[in-house]
Amino acid sequence: MRGFCDPEWKTDLLSRRFKLTVGNRLLYEPQAFNDGKEAMAFMNGWILKYGIFTLSVLLFCMTPGSGFGAPRQNTFVVLLDPAHGGEDSGVVSDKLREKDLTLNIALLLRQEGQKIPDFNVQLTRSADRSMSIAERRAMVGTVKPDCLVSLHINAGFGKKATGYEVYFPGFRQVAGGGDSPAILNDMARNKALNNSVRLGQRMQAGLETVFPRKGRGLREAPSPLLEGLNIPGVVVEIGFATHPDDRKMMTEQETQKALAQALLKEVQDYFRKAQ
Ligand SMILES: [Zn+2]
Repeated sequence: MRGFCDPEWKTDLLSRRFKLTVGNRLLYEPQAFNDGKEAMAFMNGWILKYGIFTLSVLLFCMTPGSGFGAPRQNTFVVLLDPAHGGEDSGVVSDKLREKDLTLNIALLLRQEGQKIPDFNVQLTRSADRSMSIAERRAMVGTVKPDCLVSLHINAGFGKKATGYEVYFPGFRQVAGGGDSPAILNDMARNKALNNSVRLGQRMQAGLETVFPRKGRGLREAPSPLLEGLNIPGVVVEIGFATHPDDRKMMTEQETQKALAQALLKEVQDYFRKAQ
């Protein structure tokens, strides 16, 4: 038995049209037009009624930052890794602790990066906390950066060693044979390694502006953090905590800010040239 609110499809067999009613209330009835003029009049009415609303929704969706539009192109994401942290102080010399210095510089770099449009600086850690290499590597998967820069402070066996060093992960032979996914993967990694060298050169240029003639070279070395990643990545050893001059400079606020600005400028240049 039908109640008052039961919807009912009524079919007009003669015109092959149907309509939906609830009780006596007509909810839906397809439009039928006698000629083109009538159809055009209906369309114009519809556009006036709903077109402005549709246009507003489209404009809103296309507005950057609305969250509905397509992701913005050319936004570069840099993942900075202040090495060590928490229980792991890294190098300790006098009052300098590697974990504090790397974090300070990374925070300054992020702060500087926020002033640049289309640039996004992310940190593996933004506080003094322990973090495993696996956790840092996992962030590459979540953040999906365009490059990774790990910041360290060096230490020497004596007090004479001084200056900055930059490391990139080693090139390896193409593994497997004839397996196309493996070859494609190796091609991607070789590209990332070539770009790591370019990024390393930029980092050297940045460090050179703060520590003139203190460069100790761009070196290839295995890195558990960077090994096997398909993005360019480098390890930067900013200076020697064990050298009195290096230590003095690195603990100065102005040097840290200058370093952050110089490295950021070089990362920007790296991306600009990669375009
Ligand atoms: Zn270190």
